[in-house]
Amino acid sequence: MPSSKKSTSSEERRKRYRILTFGCQMNAHDTERMSGLLEAEGYSLATSPEEAGVILVNTCAVRPKAESKAYSAIGRLRKLKNEHPPTIIGVCGCIAQSEGEKIFARMPYVDFVLGPRSLGELRRLIRQVERQRVRAACLDDTSISGKLPIKRAHPYRAWVTIMEGCDNCCTYCIVPYVRGREDSRPLSDILGEVCGLAREGYKEVTFLGQNVNSYGRGLADRANLARLLELAAEVPGIERLRFVTSHPKDLSYELMQVMANIPQVCEHLHLPLQSGSDKVLRAMNRKYAGADYLEKLRLLRELIPEISITTDVMVGFPGETEEDFAQTLEVVEAAQFDTLFSFIYSDRPHTVSAGMGNKIPREIAQPRFMRLLELQDRITKEHQARQLGKTEQVLVEGKNQRLPEYQDHISDDPGSHDHGVQLTGRTRGNRLVHFSGLEGLLGKLVWVKITRASQHCLMGELHPSQK
Ligand code: SF4
Repeated sequence: MPSSKKSTSSEERRKRYRILTFGCQMNAHDTERMSGLLEAEGYSLATSPEEAGVILVNTCAVRPKAESKAYSAIGRLRKLKNEHPPTIIGVCGCIAQSEGEKIFARMPYVDFVLGPRSLGELRRLIRQVERQRVRAACLDDTSISGKLPIKRAHPYRAWVTIMEGCDNCCTYCIVPYVRGREDSRPLSDILGEVCGLAREGYKEVTFLGQNVNSYGRGLADRANLARLLELAAEVPGIERLRFVTSHPKDLSYELMQVMANIPQVCEHLHLPLQSGSDKVLRAMNRKYAGADYLEKLRLLRELIPEISITTDVMVGFPGETEEDFAQTLEVVEAAQFDTLFSFIYSDRPHTVSAGMGNKIPREIAQPRFMRLLELQDRITKEHQARQLGKTEQVLVEGKNQRLPEYQDHISDDPGSHDHGVQLTGRTRGNRLVHFSGLEGLLGKLVWVKITRASQHCLMGELHPSQK
């Protein structure tokens, strides 16, 4: 290959980036912020890591599975670095914060590590590596900045960070260690971002934070989540509001009333239970009992009968007895969650529970986990079946990429394919729905009658007035 062509392609590669993302919505949104920063510097998205001059791995350390996936992804980059040494590899997110410069010893081809509260330093680190060819680390707490450019992954629904960090000290959780203390963004900053989103045509906003129910602590202006939702609902064009993640102890009656009274706030709440045993909840330092949790659900359902409630449950916390686990099953049965995300406890670095005795062996935890899944599968199926025949408002988010798998279910009506493509979206209760419709409906709110239900999604037909 002629040298001039080679240097051009090297230069093109230098300004292309790729980000591999693991973990929660906070991490996915951090990826949007890093993409925004890079694109503001003239970088463009590469079609694959092989084509990129800058590769970032945005890691998650909350559970071992996500951690080992991230480490495998970083490991696979060694070959790319060997083949093209100028490639810059950065490790970001929770593993970066937790492991810091130890990552360089384990993976010497990594050029920099960047903590989740130092995203604004990304461009500086890349420049430093490019110019000096030395490794760099930035793990400082430079606090959140609502001013960072954001390249949003989705054109109709957007995440907006309202706070970083967490002041709760759940004994199993690494988040306060890696994300730091609670830090709420001022109301005016957040509302400015929401207004900007509305101007760009966004219909749905999800407020993000580790513990959104304590949003506003330390801020002036009576800022709290209920007030923020009230003000955001006044922004013309924003038709749906959601928030995640909530802590049961901080879920106030005032917030429940706002959820009930403001039409833009969707009828869905993710409220992590973690355990139904009061003894285990105390050991987790969750600061509520199973009965408190169920009482909050009762109030929510009294105010918002259609609300869909999802949760997280951890199985096999240190000291969990068969009786404790039976109490978890009882609370799960009583709570009637729409969906439940469960996982088996494992030690995380820097946590209190890692130092606890009486660890539950895998051979005991795994069957408990399976029993919990079995119970929830039945409850989820019942919830899904109850959706049949309802007409739900759906935000049309995209075309259904998995068309062949769903075609049989959706094509009850032989003429349904004449209506266009297979579309997909979510109800206000956050349930996934597939249906046929014209491509022009993308980004619109439509009414869909639910005709089929499976464990993970619903199938439906557009209301005749919208065909
Ligand atoms: S509330 Fe508990 S589980 Fe949630 S981020 Fe804070 S410490 Fe972790």
